[in-house]
Amino acid sequence: MCREQCLALAGLYAAHARVTAGYRFACRAGCATCCSVNVVVTSLEAEYLRQAPAWQDPALAAEVHRAAAQPHYTPACSTNLVAACCLAGREPPPDPSPHRPGACPLLDERGLCRVYDHRPLACRAMASTRPCAEGGEAVMDPFLFTLNLALCQVIEHLDRDGRTGNLLDMLTRSGPDLHSASLVRNRPLPGFLVPPEEEQRFHAAMDTILAWPVGRGRLGDFLPRLR
Ligand code: SF4
Repeated sequence: MCREQCLALAGLYAAHARVTAGYRFACRAGCATCCSVNVVVTSLEAEYLRQAPAWQDPALAAEVHRAAAQPHYTPACSTNLVAACCLAGREPPPDPSPHRPGACPLLDERGLCRVYDHRPLACRAMASTRPCAEGGEAVMDPFLFTLNLALCQVIEHLDRDGRTGNLLDMLTRSGPDLHSASLVRNRPLPGFLVPPEEEQRFHAAMDTILAWPVGRGRLGDFLPRLR
């Protein structure tokens, strides 16, 4: 994986933290309700996660391999495939694999993420305005849902020659094994899905994110012009 893509991904994570810093979330260290075995990531994010100091411990990799050997959710579509279908007015392909119970093997015994600084966007995006245990699910500002979806699309575009899959698979496969049939081929960015009433806010947030410095350029240099 090229070093520039990892730099761009780190920039996107930092920009995401900046634009969401003004929100008040109920999420606290040790609350790990959303840390399940159903997390979906791109191969680029898995590559970045493998740079976490905790991942260098072979015992942690062995735990992830054990979890990956159990039946687990495997997504049928990437985010950009779903977006392309929606933009074309078509139904996305069905996603028949069921979500499974079980905690993410990257959690420690205190309920803390062992790779927190390198966690994927799906984990960064899962932020609730009230404790999830109260209603059984996260409560999120609809605008944040729109923004997080768009950033998933941007990450897939950065990794458009890569794959999308369950975090367990993406961490335990590499090289030719990464291109197996059970992983979804990534696609370029087809455009964003933004409700008309959120457009102004969305473009303001994206302007901040795409201006984020990456090397000698900015994050927006990695994307096609969409407007
Ligand atoms: S990677 Fe970290 S934040 Fe994400 S689900 Fe696993 S333990 Fe939770």
